[in-house]
Amino acid sequence: MSAKSRRTCFAVLLFIVFVVMAHDSFAAVRGSPYWTQKGQGWIYYAFTPPKPLIAITLDDGPNRTYTPAILHVLEKYHAHATFFVVGKQVKNYPEMLKEIVVRGNEVGNHTYLHQQQGIPTVTDLTACDETIRSIIGKKPVWVRPPGGHLSSVFLQRAKQNHLRIAMWTWDVDAKDWSLPGVTSIVSKVMANIDPGDILLFHDGGGKRTQTVQALDILLERLQRRGYQFVTMSDLLLCCP
Ligand SMILES: [Zn+2]
Repeated sequence: MSAKSRRTCFAVLLFIVFVVMAHDSFAAVRGSPYWTQKGQGWIYYAFTPPKPLIAITLDDGPNRTYTPAILHVLEKYHAHATFFVVGKQVKNYPEMLKEIVVRGNEVGNHTYLHQQQGIPTVTDLTACDETIRSIIGKKPVWVRPPGGHLSSVFLQRAKQNHLRIAMWTWDVDAKDWSLPGVTSIVSKVMANIDPGDILLFHDGGGKRTQTVQALDILLERLQRRGYQFVTMSDLLLCCP
């Protein structure tokens, strides 16, 4: 083999390695689901459904003002979402939790205390599970760590509580909590949306008027593009 053809072979080999690696990292981010390298739990960043389905998720509620407003918007577009609720908030608004479920939405665990510092304890996870169960009769199957802070200890604790970890799809994260404006939230999502994405919004933890308005616009536009909005568990069921 000549030096030139060796160089060509080497270049082709490099290209193949690059494509395989790129595919793997793509699968790790978008793939549904994947087992972490440490083998400690299931983490979902997106799904791969055969249809244009999206999971809308709402964190930090229930909230007296914004949760009903968001439920109203969801109903307007026949949409269902997953609400990652904070246990101590649920204690304040148990009727709101029932309302979320009665309208066909799903409830997920967002810990009882929602502490941003440190790793939620098993007690914190269990307290949220139990608060939810005492009101709607069943425990959630999903958990989202406060602030999205993942660690191997958290994965272990989630697994201990039989909870699957729901993260979200980064390229459609409009960071509504930072109040970037309705237009900014809408355009961030519309520019990057793909079937199977998990959208992150907030119905508690601050003023959420922008989120309510942005969701109204987004659901209308996405519905026109053929998207349907389902809960995390329903989306998982649709995936091969
Ligand atoms: Zn939160």
